[in-house]
Amino acid sequence: MAGCRFCGAAVSHTFVDLGMSPLCESFLTREQLNQMEPFYPLHAYVCERCFLVQVEEYVGPEHIFNDYAYFSSFSTAWLEHAKSYVDMITTRLDLDPASYVVELGSNDGYLLQNFVKKGIPVLGVEPAANVAAAALEKGVSTTTRLFGRETAQALVQERGPADLIIGNNVLAQVTDLNGFVAGMKTLLKPHGVITMEFPHLLRLMNENQFDTIYHEHFSYFSFMTAQRIFAAHGLTLFDVEELWTHGGSLRIYARHAEDEKRTVGPRVAGLLGREKTAGLDRIEKYALFTEQVEETKRALLDFLISAKRQGKVIAGYGAPGKGNTLLNYCGIRTDFLAFTVDRNPYKHGRFLPGTHIPIFHPEKIKETRPDYVLILPWNLKDEIMGQLAEIRSWGGQFVVPIPRLEVIR
Ligand SMILES: [Zn+2]
Repeated sequence: MAGCRFCGAAVSHTFVDLGMSPLCESFLTREQLNQMEPFYPLHAYVCERCFLVQVEEYVGPEHIFNDYAYFSSFSTAWLEHAKSYVDMITTRLDLDPASYVVELGSNDGYLLQNFVKKGIPVLGVEPAANVAAAALEKGVSTTTRLFGRETAQALVQERGPADLIIGNNVLAQVTDLNGFVAGMKTLLKPHGVITMEFPHLLRLMNENQFDTIYHEHFSYFSFMTAQRIFAAHGLTLFDVEELWTHGGSLRIYARHAEDEKRTVGPRVAGLLGREKTAGLDRIEKYALFTEQVEETKRALLDFLISAKRQGKVIAGYGAPGKGNTLLNYCGIRTDFLAFTVDRNPYKHGRFLPGTHIPIFHPEKIKETRPDYVLILPWNLKDEIMGQLAEIRSWGGQFVVPIPRLEVIR
């Protein structure tokens, strides 16, 4: 691929090559099934200089966010996560009605609504117009634009700098990574704080989470690489938490490099040390990932082939982006998976990109009583197995594909 998205070095080392895949959020209508569908290489590389794992950008964010199907508010666990974060950070930073909070990639206002209830002024910055409209309906002040250097300057002129800037699962989707981080530097008050959450590359590698790689996620970060990127723009990471979300995420805390009021906490050195021990600062470590991914595919296909030979019916649960990477890479279509279900009504009556598996309301599981339910959003498996506990009444079992194939009675 071209130069590294962060440091500009030539990038030639393969992290994993997942073959050709469609855009994972492009759910198809019945009419679209007979049309040509664009597939792009899903090939992740790692930069030998800064160890940023990255995929090439085939389509711009305007295309991805034009009709964005992901509404954060459809996951109960995610809503609870957002609420407890708001309670924690309000206390930790002493936020009050004189403070100003900006969230980048604010989606449908799932998080900021909690600040609004506390009377703390907010602004959401969200590139997808349809989800931004849902935020406005909730009473969450939101502007529809892409964030970068120029947007940051405009926002400072309009409402001044922010006490807290939040970005959850947004950094991976940024094409101009340097412009985005530089923009946060511009928008942040002298003693302000940035918190960002993103899936942790160490967990992705240790737990075979290759299905979290997709075209819409351009970058995958270790803590050491994130630290390097923020430092290049005058921002210091002074704390980090490890979270259960999305299969294992980091929440990083950043401040201006010159703001020495907040000292760097012990968790920073602790995590850097563990990443070094794991080999994340050596290119050889990254080269081992492909074999793990191929073995995960073989184990899932072994199971599916043997279940189908026994005449079993297998349904999917969920239609997340990660499911589409998994199903396309493994070549799983309606020959294995009769259908899938999802709680998001936008997806009902539509079909998964590439594999053309139909998506129904979750009631379909109770109506058809499949032998197995393959949980595609494996990161939410506990929540889903709770909701679907009654499949056990007809002998149904759950199948979880990642980190390793697991069949749960
Ligand atoms: Zn690089």
